Amino acid sequence: MEKVIIVRYSEIHLKGKNRGYFERVLILNMEKSLKGLKHEIKRQSGRYIVEGFEEQETENIISRLKRVFGIHSLSIALRVETDLEEIFKAAKSVCSEYGKFKVSAHRADKNFALNSMQINAEIGGRLLSCLKNLTVDVHNPDFIVNIDVRENGTTLIFNEFFKGAGGMPVGTSGKGMLLISGGIDSPVAGHMIAKRGMQIDCIHYHSYPYTNMQARDKVIELAKVLSKYTCGTKLNIISVTHIQEEIHKKCNGEYMVTLLRRFMMRIAERIAKKIGAQCLITGESLGQVASQTVEGMASSNSVVKELPVLRPLCGFDKDEIIERSRDMGAYEISIQPFEDCCTVFLPKHPVIKPSLVNVLEEESKLDVESLLNEALSTHEVICL
Ligand code: ATP
Ligand code: MG
Repeated sequence: MEKVIIVRYSEIHLKGKNRGYFERVLILNMEKSLKGLKHEIKRQSGRYIVEGFEEQETENIISRLKRVFGIHSLSIALRVETDLEEIFKAAKSVCSEYGKFKVSAHRADKNFALNSMQINAEIGGRLLSCLKNLTVDVHNPDFIVNIDVRENGTTLIFNEFFKGAGGMPVGTSGKGMLLISGGIDSPVAGHMIAKRGMQIDCIHYHSYPYTNMQARDKVIELAKVLSKYTCGTKLNIISVTHIQEEIHKKCNGEYMVTLLRRFMMRIAERIAKKIGAQCLITGESLGQVASQTVEGMASSNSVVKELPVLRPLCGFDKDEIIERSRDMGAYEISIQPFEDCCTVFLPKHPVIKPSLVNVLEEESKLDVESLLNEALSTHEVICL
């Protein structure tokens, strides 16, 4: 009797001709997520079996695989030779002590003497006669003993399904550049787009020494959390200190955030194109704060020349975003109180609905191109 993990995949079923490609990417991502742990992954009629791992690592493997997009569900199973006695022993060991149960057999191996109904009756009957605190309830069971008789002479027995992350394997929908801050929203935005199969690289802007090193470490930690779902990521870090000083010195302070956002978008697009990213992703949510109005978005969009800007959180309330942040394991990091560059030189009354004419007038007081080049010269990359 051997412990294995059954991995079922989701939407990739639907992909027809691309199915082979999707499966290859998924298996690659599973391998990456299990790096450092002894294991083997085998494909078996439309799913994967993880085997050959140390039993004490079972929970660890399950929790890592729960973060791999494209996986629909997982089960820890006992694998035995297809032999009634062996199947019964395994079935008994997955049963709870008390409660209502049913047996649900599936027979892929048509050579096995009993059909699925007969397996249900035979194993169910044996379990009832030796486990006195169990009763059968096929309509409303407390647990189900699943018996899957495979074609290769082995049978899988399991009673639990763990929900997988769903979505599509990261890497099957191109690559995007996430503008990541130390806040709650942007890591969630990255997570949502990664779920649709997009590989994510990140870019973060800091205003050292106005912002401190802890703020930077916090963003590195957030990108690390994201990277567990994206099978690694690269974090690009850029200083916007001088840009902010120049805006502060030369422009109407009410436009600080609006103007800074435009610099952020320009820099992000330039680096995105260099690394082959096909879109920008932000954590903006419509109306959440003063700078996140449709006018603000129009102002920052208008400097992005070629790439689409994805704002997956636009229609979400803050509490919905917080729930997702908790689910992905980023929330406790995001709420650490370190200043972000957007709060440096923050005006008392930022412009809420910036008109493009006024924005351009303020921006004309700056040497945009040389500020961009200077910021780009501070470019660092951290591989996570
Ligand atoms: P978040 O929680 O992601 O910080 P927020 O609600 O605080 O979002 P803003 O500070 O207005 O919103 O930022 C809006 C978006 O702009 C962020 O979600 C992020 O995508 C991008 N952004 C803001 N600050 C930075 C930064 N320092 N570096 C990179 N991107 C940033
Ligand atoms: Mg923020």
